[in-house]
Amino acid sequence: MQNIYNFSAGPAMLPQEVMQQAQEEFTDWQNHGTSVMEVSHRGKPFIEVAEQAEADLRELLGISCNYTVLFMHGGGRGQFSAVPLNISKPNGLSEHLVTGQWSVSAEAEAQKYMKTHIVATQCIIDGKTTVPTQKDWKISENADYFHYCSNETVDGIEIDWVPKSESGNVPIVADMSSNILSKPINIDDFGIIYAGAQKNIGPSGLSVVVVRNDLIGLARQETPSILNYELQAKSGSMYNTPPTFSWYLAGLVFKWLKQQGGLASIAKVNQEKSELLYKQIDKTGFYQNSVANEYRSKMNVTFQLNNDALNAEFLKQAEQSGLVALKGHRAVGGMRASIYNAMPIEGVKALVSFMQEFERKNG
Ligand SMILES: *Cc1c(COP(=O)(O)O)cnc(C)c1O
Repeated sequence: MQNIYNFSAGPAMLPQEVMQQAQEEFTDWQNHGTSVMEVSHRGKPFIEVAEQAEADLRELLGISCNYTVLFMHGGGRGQFSAVPLNISKPNGLSEHLVTGQWSVSAEAEAQKYMKTHIVATQCIIDGKTTVPTQKDWKISENADYFHYCSNETVDGIEIDWVPKSESGNVPIVADMSSNILSKPINIDDFGIIYAGAQKNIGPSGLSVVVVRNDLIGLARQETPSILNYELQAKSGSMYNTPPTFSWYLAGLVFKWLKQQGGLASIAKVNQEKSELLYKQIDKTGFYQNSVANEYRSKMNVTFQLNNDALNAEFLKQAEQSGLVALKGHRAVGGMRASIYNAMPIEGVKALVSFMQEFERKNG
């Protein structure tokens, strides 16, 4: 049994039941006498795993036949390059909403391939970090696509609304690496969604991409074949050898999510978990979170101690209590509790108790 709670931002903890199943069938998978990672990706047993994973993902997210699901290499950042190469012209334009570390990086990468324009950035109002709504900016109808990050993993900022172009003709591209599958979404709002797997899906390296079919087949000539949506779509994401073990494990996570009751159910739990933590943070001023309430992430809860000098002690004692990986990203400091789908509510309750106790002793 698990004796720690792992709040790592990514690679992050995976559901206990999934890890146990993977362990049980690690060396003898489905009575084949081998591990799933030792069989051909083109053989029937693995093809079944691959197809089932896609079917379960489609069911969970409500993905229609207007969209293609790809299991690709290169994690989240791979798509920072794949998106411009696949759906923009060399003299084209991409528009970006920049709300934190990850959308900054996506825009910087896109600059290599085209003109970019930042429509708006996060800003501070009344001491709280917030995101300008579309009343204050709009998407150029000339843009090849519009890109944003629906959950800023480092900054703890989550955007619950989906930006739109006036005509509806500019494809909306979302980096959902750290909140995919945490709640229901309407796929039809998007041209492309993508996610590196290591937060809410499975092992790192894998990238899950959902592309609207009309955006396939537009890739630039020089696009690396393994990043080419059309080639990958035509070959069932097996243009080259896919990350088979990660794909298998993602499939187990999708099954687990279905057993939890799907995304509406997990969203309720995620809501409850994040509320517990933010309530504790807001209680006295000993802890602080600087994100405006409506943009507080349900996946990555960032907080500072009022007294920075206590940071090291907080982390040390937390670890002694079995609460690990709470250190905030080096770019922002403070603490960060990443509470993706796999984090049980008991883990959050244990953290809240620890925070109360730490404040009682040091407040
Ligand atoms: C982790 C993360 C990435 C980067 O993923 P890699 O697999 O390391 O490339 C990109 N975007 C977001 C929002 C992330 O959380």
